[in-house]
Amino acid sequence: MDFQLPREIEEMKQVVRDFVATEVEPLAMEIEAQDEVPQDLLEKSRALGLFGLSIPEAYGGMGLSMIGKCALYEELGKTINGYTTILGAHNGIGTVGLVELSNEAQRQRYLPRMATGEWIGAFALTEPQAGSNAASIRTTAVKKGDRYILNGQKIYITNAPIAHVFTVMAVTDPSRGPKGITSFIVERDFPGFHVGNVEKKMGLHGSHTAQLYLEDLEVPEENVLGEVGQGYVNALKILANGRAGLAARCLGSSQYLLDKSLAYAMEREQFGKPIFEQQVIQHYLAEMATEIETLRWMMYRVAWMTDMGMNVIQEAAMLKLYGSEVYNRIADKAVQIHGGVGYIAEYPIERFYRDARITRIYEGTSEIQKNVIAAQLRKRYEAGR
Ligand SMILES: Cc1cc2nc3c(=O)[nH]c(=O)nc-3n(C[C@H](O)[C@H](O)[C@H](O)COP(=O)(O)OP(=O)(O)OC[C@H]3O[C@@H](n4cnc5c(N)ncnc54)[C@H](O)[C@@H]3O)c2cc1C
Repeated sequence: MDFQLPREIEEMKQVVRDFVATEVEPLAMEIEAQDEVPQDLLEKSRALGLFGLSIPEAYGGMGLSMIGKCALYEELGKTINGYTTILGAHNGIGTVGLVELSNEAQRQRYLPRMATGEWIGAFALTEPQAGSNAASIRTTAVKKGDRYILNGQKIYITNAPIAHVFTVMAVTDPSRGPKGITSFIVERDFPGFHVGNVEKKMGLHGSHTAQLYLEDLEVPEENVLGEVGQGYVNALKILANGRAGLAARCLGSSQYLLDKSLAYAMEREQFGKPIFEQQVIQHYLAEMATEIETLRWMMYRVAWMTDMGMNVIQEAAMLKLYGSEVYNRIADKAVQIHGGVGYIAEYPIERFYRDARITRIYEGTSEIQKNVIAAQLRKRYEAGR
């Protein structure tokens, strides 16, 4: 067993760490206040290859293994979560379907431009009445000649205002339930595609989430992604693949909060000594460090299993559940250790506290992850009887 990351991944981590320190972190207050990531930062991110993490080298991407991607996400998690959500949604749920399920013609058309970030990706599953119960979507796709006509509404779609390529799930055969759902590759300028207003959110400022209106949207038949009727299975696969990446960003943010909390505890004096000298503060820090260490090795194991082509349904659900819950617990302790400073918007801690909250909700809530884990446990029990 080897717990050492390969040298080239360590080197890439260092490049991302430097980029975050010099180009991203200085913009934190501006992005938070304006709720906008400057174009210049997106350009610099494109130039560094940060939009091509999931795309094979043959199509212009970095072709990273899941371990490599998670190592970089861990670094990116240490900075503005709104900015890293743009990258995470693109490289994860926005791109993975096109890498894993597409045919060669689709790859040629989409992957090179997505690898450079010229075309940003998004994933559109959720609808007003279909959140956790994703199989209950109502957007329809009716075949007419050589195209499908889509009608429906999607909500909370990350990157919608800036994305060009959308992986959209729609019902092609209402009589077949989840087996009647199909995935489509939709381009922003297809006739009948409209992006609604950007939602105002508790956190993740700079990352934009909006509704989509599909009104007699025309999608060429060749833009079916994977097989007709496999859309629900595809959506689950894409979401499962994204889970390690999301947990890696939770890990990076948790590590950032521990580092800040430790430094603050050492420097802040009350009752004539640093607050670190209070055993309760030491215990908070020890608990934070222990959970981070547990999360880190859980994450790299799931990444390794993914790279080995192993089934990670249960482990990825455990990882997403644990990663998001750890991040939230650590954000809460970080606010507590910082006292009043932890609540004041001039400092970064309250921003991370607000940003942490969404990780327990999107890409499958904590409750849904527990349902997935329990279903796998039941399967194992029944298989063993
Ligand atoms: C900022 C943001 C970005 C998002 N980005 C995207 C995106 O890019 N693409 C996309 O398709 N979607 C996106 N979503 C949607 C997100 O994935 C859903 O909000 C999430 O899956 C939960 O669905 P819901 O909001 O409808 O909650 P509901 O499903 O209504 O759930 C409400 C509560 O009930 C619980 N619950 C529901 N069913 C069960 C059950 N069977 N067992 C136990 N508890 C249950 C839930 O866990 C939750 O606590 C985004 C959401 C947000 C807020």
